[in-house]
Amino acid sequence: QVSLKIKNVSKVFKDFRGREVTAVDNISFEVNPGEFVTLLGPSGCGKTTTLRMIAGFEKPTSGMILINDVNVVEIPPWKRDTAMVFQSYGLFPHMNVAENIAYGLKMRKVPKEEIEKKVKAILKVVGLEGFEERPPSSLSGGQQQRVALARALVVEPSVLLFDEPLSNLDVLLREQMRVEIKRIQKEVGITAIYVTHDRTEALTLSDKIVLMKGGKIEQIGTPEEIYEKPESKFAAEFMGKINFFPIDVVEFQPDKTVVKLKNAVYEIPSVPTKRSEKYVLGCRPEGLKLSKEGPVKGIITTIVYLGNFSEYYIQTDYGEVMVKVLPPFDKNLTEGREVFIEVIPEIAKIIPES
Ligand code: ADP
Ligand code: MG
Repeated sequence: QVSLKIKNVSKVFKDFRGREVTAVDNISFEVNPGEFVTLLGPSGCGKTTTLRMIAGFEKPTSGMILINDVNVVEIPPWKRDTAMVFQSYGLFPHMNVAENIAYGLKMRKVPKEEIEKKVKAILKVVGLEGFEERPPSSLSGGQQQRVALARALVVEPSVLLFDEPLSNLDVLLREQMRVEIKRIQKEVGITAIYVTHDRTEALTLSDKIVLMKGGKIEQIGTPEEIYEKPESKFAAEFMGKINFFPIDVVEFQPDKTVVKLKNAVYEIPSVPTKRSEKYVLGCRPEGLKLSKEGPVKGIITTIVYLGNFSEYYIQTDYGEVMVKVLPPFDKNLTEGREVFIEVIPEIAKIIPES
């Protein structure tokens, strides 16, 4: 198992007009041996470029990429001991499943009997025993992605790289494959870097998430840390629906923060990890409740019934607020009615404004 260190890496491209585009802007992060790290962020934030630099398809403009403490930026991809799984599976259509998987081993001049043994073993790992002779075109999207995964795994790379491997699959399959990928990675015990713009994938798969925005790293942490303790409004919003309210911080205490929202004073049982001049209160839809009083007043504009809960959209002085309401639903709270919104301090978050 290997460790990976990305140190002050930048990548500047020239666009077709010759102007410089900074795709990756001085990023640093570490991947421990056997760890599953996700690069998460919106389209265009530099995830693929980062992955391609780790694989060696792209050379950093500056910075170092260390695999087991050896700087590899001058080492070509085929000598780096990494393997990549792409969104478009990239299988060879004229080769059957076994030949597709064997390709990398053949290139490495592995003896025939050993290739057969390894292909068989890896097909078992990805749950495709007996598929050796099948052409890729006869397989479902999920099965093709498994073949692509097997092809990457069979060469026993030190680092496995994934670039949005599930984006082409339908929702059900995507959920299934997500669990599979995690199982296989843990079973093989490989160091993995996974690129996605899908927060659910990042939350379910990762030991660690590197959240990116505009070529820079916004926050690094475990799924829980990023979800529970976002250090910016961007991080909070990227991890799921959230409402923001302007607050005044009255006092920081060792394990709680006293804040004021209009006339209401709340003791929030957490302290922000990052300090700033100005903070907002971040409340997820489940962190608010409708009541007869509360600091925020509004008019119910829309109620979305979702069976086991409902979403109430409320127009307030702070913009539209979304509250998740569990049954039994109050029949008096209909669209057009006035309500007050109360904060559940236990799960509210204090987030730096800028
Ligand atoms: P992501 O994978 O997060 O969507 P990318 O790494 O593909 O983002 O791209 C980051 C930025 O770099 C984008 O603005 C993109 O247009 C630009 N970019 C990527 N590759 C090239 C290239 N070969 N030439 C010029 N610009 C590029
Ligand atoms: Mg990409």
